[in-house]
Amino acid sequence: MNTAEWINTVEYKELNFARKALVVNPTKACQPLGAFFCASGFEGTLPYEHGSQGCTAYFRNNLARHYREPFPAVSDSMTEDAAVFGGRANMIEGLKNANDLYKPKMIAMCTSCMAEVIGDDLKAFISNARDAGSIPASLPVAPAHTPSFIGSHITGYDNMLLAIVKTLSEGKYKDGDRNGKLNVIPGFDAHIENIREVKRYMSMMGVPVTVLADNTETFDSPLSGHYEMYHGGTTLAEAGDSVNAIGTISMQAYASAKTVKEFGAEYGQKTAEFNYPMGIAAFDSFLMKVSEMTGMPIPASITDERGRALDAATDAHQYFHGKRFSMFGDPDVMLGLARFIMEMGGEPVHIVSTNGTKKWEREMQALLASSPYGSSGTAYPGKDLWHLRSLLVTEPVDMLIGDSHGKYAAKDAGIPLVRIGFPITDRVNLHRYATLGYKGTMNLITWITNAFLDELDRTCDDAHFELLR
Ligand code: SF4
Repeated sequence: MNTAEWINTVEYKELNFARKALVVNPTKACQPLGAFFCASGFEGTLPYEHGSQGCTAYFRNNLARHYREPFPAVSDSMTEDAAVFGGRANMIEGLKNANDLYKPKMIAMCTSCMAEVIGDDLKAFISNARDAGSIPASLPVAPAHTPSFIGSHITGYDNMLLAIVKTLSEGKYKDGDRNGKLNVIPGFDAHIENIREVKRYMSMMGVPVTVLADNTETFDSPLSGHYEMYHGGTTLAEAGDSVNAIGTISMQAYASAKTVKEFGAEYGQKTAEFNYPMGIAAFDSFLMKVSEMTGMPIPASITDERGRALDAATDAHQYFHGKRFSMFGDPDVMLGLARFIMEMGGEPVHIVSTNGTKKWEREMQALLASSPYGSSGTAYPGKDLWHLRSLLVTEPVDMLIGDSHGKYAAKDAGIPLVRIGFPITDRVNLHRYATLGYKGTMNLITWITNAFLDELDRTCDDAHFELLR
């Protein structure tokens, strides 16, 4: 047997799953990427990495490739001398250059591995830079330690969001005097049209909302012929006042755990967490929670939209029924997707999340156990795309769902890949379509069903090449 055949065997799969010291194509990125993504949602904010230049190039490159938009961000270019003497001098010079050249309203600072291994103290260095006159006393600098040897991009998102809220809200908490608004945290959501959709639903319900962080315009700004550097949609004033909101809802619990806890414990807010509420039932729960927290009813216009999504689901459910799915990505997205697939009568079989934890595994297995469609499903926390390939070729499924990195395993297994997640670098415009809400549900149903039907047309013999499907 040659090697190409052997890597498709159960024997190889067992060896592959016994591997401990090597990761091949993890379904995650490192913390600062998530920190940059979060920072870009705030007004006039410059993402700044205290660390080496190559890391920032990687984050910018990944974000720019997915969204096909420029992504401005800087580093203070730590090199060998900083590794020996620490990065204080880099930060003093870096903050001055960043402020002089790019005139931000806020600098959102995270760290690369190098700065964390050395143990640089961000708060002390920022204070040193202010004393040295690098930046004015009035310029907010939000410091987030984002060591990449712990967690992933979703941890970095959470750390940065918490740092920004704490920095901007200093001295602004009014001890229970609420501003009447609801905070919504989207989490690390590659499909940023979801933010516009959530704002639209909130507007239909008459609920004033602060999105933390609103990066829709950063990654989907109009082509005007003029370059503008900053598009972050959450104003600094709104972010500072978010501690006085009536409550906070997160769309991605694993990507915002610390921040949500802070809003509840430190600022006495009502809080609620969802795991990327895809599909009709999960989005119903989200809207009902908003209604419960704000006292605002759900209007008939939303009920009509829901009815249309239900109609779309009814039209397509026979194409999902009994189909076996594999999926990979962030913990929240996997929970949302598995719930949606089961809602449509499909069967989630392999669910891989490199940044999934033991808690996530228990949550996913409980979700699978809650439906007859989940009986053949298994959650794989900490596993990577090479593990997933072994699963696909030894325990076949009908479709893979995940980001562009899944295309190789899907090709080897001879199944279609529907692209959801980050990064998507080989298809266009998918971030401009929602995956949440009733319109998002219709998009998911359309993409998945039509991928199956395209596959059927492509692979069937002439006698079964039908006009009606
Ligand atoms: S893992 Fe560390 S060295 Fe690599 S890109 Fe991320 S921060 Fe930089």
